[in-house]
Amino acid sequence: MIEAEQEYPVWDRHSCLSHTDRQECRSHARWFFILLLVGFSALAHAQQVPEKWLTGYEKSGYKKTPRYKETMEYCRLLERGSPWIRVTKFGTSPEGRDMPLVIASKDKIFDAKGAAKSDKAILLIQNGIHAGEIDGKDACLMLLRDIAITKSKASLLDHVILLVIPIYNVDGHERFGPNNRINQNGPEEMGWRVNALNLNLNRDYLKADAPETQAWLKLFNAWLPDFFIDCHVTDGADFQYSVTYGIELHENVAPPVRSWIQQQYLPMLSALRLDGVPVAPYIFLRDALDPLKGQDGGGVAPPRFSTAYVPLQNRPGLLIETHMLKEYKTRVDGTYGLLEATLRRMNEEYVSLRNAVRLADKEVAKGIHEAYAVRYDQVDTPSDTISYLGFRQQNGPSEISGTTGIRYTREPFEAHVPRYDSVRATTLIRPPAAYLIPAQWKDVAERLKMHGLQLERLTAATTVDVEEYRFSNASWAQSPFEGRHAASYRVDTIQRRRTFPAGTIVCPMRQRAAKVALHALEPQAPDAFAAWGFFDAVFEQKEYAEDYVMESMAPAMLSADSALARQFREKLRTDSLFAKSPGARINFFYQHSPYWDDAVNLYPVARLMREQVLPTEPLR
Ligand SMILES: [Zn+2]
Repeated sequence: MIEAEQEYPVWDRHSCLSHTDRQECRSHARWFFILLLVGFSALAHAQQVPEKWLTGYEKSGYKKTPRYKETMEYCRLLERGSPWIRVTKFGTSPEGRDMPLVIASKDKIFDAKGAAKSDKAILLIQNGIHAGEIDGKDACLMLLRDIAITKSKASLLDHVILLVIPIYNVDGHERFGPNNRINQNGPEEMGWRVNALNLNLNRDYLKADAPETQAWLKLFNAWLPDFFIDCHVTDGADFQYSVTYGIELHENVAPPVRSWIQQQYLPMLSALRLDGVPVAPYIFLRDALDPLKGQDGGGVAPPRFSTAYVPLQNRPGLLIETHMLKEYKTRVDGTYGLLEATLRRMNEEYVSLRNAVRLADKEVAKGIHEAYAVRYDQVDTPSDTISYLGFRQQNGPSEISGTTGIRYTREPFEAHVPRYDSVRATTLIRPPAAYLIPAQWKDVAERLKMHGLQLERLTAATTVDVEEYRFSNASWAQSPFEGRHAASYRVDTIQRRRTFPAGTIVCPMRQRAAKVALHALEPQAPDAFAAWGFFDAVFEQKEYAEDYVMESMAPAMLSADSALARQFREKLRTDSLFAKSPGARINFFYQHSPYWDDAVNLYPVARLMREQVLPTEPLR
């Protein structure tokens, strides 16, 4: 049941992510007019900018992206040049670099507590999680300058506090070279996809193995931004769009946030044109050889991805994917245009956005009382038809691949193609009132705390009725995926009355981040800690019966227990592998003896299903 990424073939084919919404939005003439201007404004502003304030990217004629050191120098220059800018760090990378955060605030609110007390909406923009896909950094440096120095875009801070991570994967960024992105058209040199530990940070959000992720979670939970944007560059098909986007919009998004996206944000997005072309939902062709067969919506992404994680925290998450084959300048301008348009919309709708996010927090904190879906499948019938701006293909036999090779021409076409963007829940969980985690699973508790979950501990031994999970048929992926070997298993529920000692960790579900707990602690969820191997030791049998000891005990067991005798004979008859395995036969008796270890294959985290008052204190 638990994957390596193969279970998500749609995402696997592409560099970054994701899925998009399928909300069919009507064009609004007003948006069209405003946004037409937005897309072309970046260059115009660059031309009016004094030499001192040009970014490294602009000075290079839009061909190069600055290194980490130059990027930091420019951020410091902005800080010295404007009282609205503060440069700080939010973590340290595995190779020892500071992880920078630039805060832009007209009211000079540079701390999370002050921001929470203000009436501003908070936007977090993240760049360079895949450090070779660095368009967002160069767009953001210009945007910060245009806001805080030349002030041509100063109004973007009227109702918003802007947090920019100029480079997230700082170590990857400094693995710099011209050959890091085979599919990508510039800049001349760029950083590398993964961090110094060879981990893809955009698969790490829920398991939080990387120091960068742990620092990010601390940052996120301190500020709780109202909107999150993650900037990337695509791999995948060739088409006319310079900028595509993804935004989670199925039932995995809290209803108030979902309505805000649908009503207040998507109409603007669907009217936006960049580089003369509309922005499009992230494109997953169903058949790379024939775009007319339509597009997959991508379903519901698992929360290993940034923009699928933030909805579990009740926030909208926008994925920006510029098209790899477009010129670097076109891509940076496109990113700038979409960031600016989003900031404008946030300034107009900051009250409704803040209300939506806070309402979602409040509703989740009341407890999730309905069945909760941790897995969805895409439905294999089209949800609707959309316009597609592609390039014609002249595919033909390939001596290189031995199959049909894809060859794109430069001949553009527009077609209306089916889009498959309906999903259905496939794994539903009945949420507990609380999880009970034995104190020894400290690493699990630590990660839950990183996710902003408030934990408690029992102050006295407590006997309660709980639901527990028993694993069977466990196996592990042969190859590592993100440094771990994914576990698969069957899960059965058992009901028990159990005494938990003082010190047992309690994760109550009446809290705003409860959906993160469900995804981390329900073993059937796609990014469950159990699936990532946090609990692998519980699958191991640690005590064995000596054959000759069991030989002497087994006959007495058979004669004392006729049901056991029947079961043994039946197993011999129907299970030839068992019948042929002396070890399995001996172990059968050991398993049915009072000596057997009941904790083998038992998931140590118990589910308290009924709301009840427990003797607890907060876990610091
Ligand atoms: Zn990416």
